[in-house]
Amino acid sequence: MRIGIVLVIAVAGFTASANARTIVHAGHLIDGVGNAARDNVSVVIENGRIAEVATGFVPGAAGDEVIDLSNQTVLPGLMDMHTHLAHQLSRTSYMDEFTMNPTDVAIRSTYYARLTLLAGFTTVRDLGDDGMTTVSLRKEIAAGHVVGPRIFTAGKSLATTGGHADPTSGWCQPLAGDPGPREGVVSGVDDARKAVRQRYKDGSDWIKITATGGVLSMATSGDNAQFTDDELKALVETAKDYGFQVAAHAHGAEGMLRAVNAGVASIEHGTYMNDEIIKAMKKHGTYYVPTILAGVTVAELSKQDDYLPEVVRPKAAKIGPQIKGTFTKAYKAGVKIAFGTDCGVSEHGGNAREFELMVECGMPPMEAIKAATMGAAKLLRAEDRLGSVEKGKIADLVAVKDNPLTNISTLRDVTFVMKDGVVYKKDGAAVETARASKK
Ligand SMILES: [Zn+2]
Repeated sequence: MRIGIVLVIAVAGFTASANARTIVHAGHLIDGVGNAARDNVSVVIENGRIAEVATGFVPGAAGDEVIDLSNQTVLPGLMDMHTHLAHQLSRTSYMDEFTMNPTDVAIRSTYYARLTLLAGFTTVRDLGDDGMTTVSLRKEIAAGHVVGPRIFTAGKSLATTGGHADPTSGWCQPLAGDPGPREGVVSGVDDARKAVRQRYKDGSDWIKITATGGVLSMATSGDNAQFTDDELKALVETAKDYGFQVAAHAHGAEGMLRAVNAGVASIEHGTYMNDEIIKAMKKHGTYYVPTILAGVTVAELSKQDDYLPEVVRPKAAKIGPQIKGTFTKAYKAGVKIAFGTDCGVSEHGGNAREFELMVECGMPPMEAIKAATMGAAKLLRAEDRLGSVEKGKIADLVAVKDNPLTNISTLRDVTFVMKDGVVYKKDGAAVETARASKK
């Protein structure tokens, strides 16, 4: 019986590969690897993979689908290394924790996921939700039931008691209880190990820790160190045992340096990054994921009355505007940078504004694009299949009307989106996709 099913699938797969090719005619191609755009190129796609990247416009044979982007610039699918697809900051965010059911949160996350994909982001690394939403979202998107980006998720972020991702910070004590490793809250090395193992059980792909205080949590410090060296060591070592890499949220210098020295893969925000930390990051090969957009967003919101809670507002005003300067400093010093927005703090689908901010802060457009393609793929250790338009890679492509090397803002207006060889947006409009479940 089982052999029979395997045979049927194999035959179906063979039939598809023999007939169906999609050929994209790209007027210009930024492939994520080269230092210049190539003109008049064909990207040939078979079975969701790039079979060939050919010079000139290859004509389609009978049964081939030809997509004409000969007056556009084609790029690899964009990759955002810091999103929160389960949430979006609003005036009601802090009350939503008490009024929204998990199913409400999950259903809404499908809307945010769709916006993200249609904005050209075919892959995201999601760095923190209520625990399970983005794990489920990842599965349902991968199965073809929900339209959204490919997700690598941390699930629940790990915090110390009262720390930045303690889900009960600011709650009255009878409601707050005493959350532990299962809820992502750690105090001591045993908890640290258990919290990582719980994420393995949950189905996470990454571990996210909050190495320092943060802006939006209901706590007074936005930058204090929140894990001890021995807790960080236990987290990173245990993560390694399970094949996880660790992403560390950090604003303050002390907690950031401890995290880098413990061996985390990426520093998120990095606000008060100093020369000593830059040196340590270069030594360890640590990536910097800047999230300039989050800094700009909270700084803007801090000027409004009655938007952010009073304990949060001064932190947003102080920390938010610093990230631009940190980015410029880190870039000039040669720290490895991967693109990340912290969308969820800003609006989902508005991810490409980060490109403008990176360029405004001194990064050439081509490098900003590489940070969101090959650079991001390397951070994910997925550069064998993602991040560039090259033979053998997964067919994730986007297109824009203008040349992003001279007009970076054109990335805000993606006209075409393909993920896994399936077209989700064409001529600027969403394409309805009904795909069978890929069990
Ligand atoms: Zn974040």
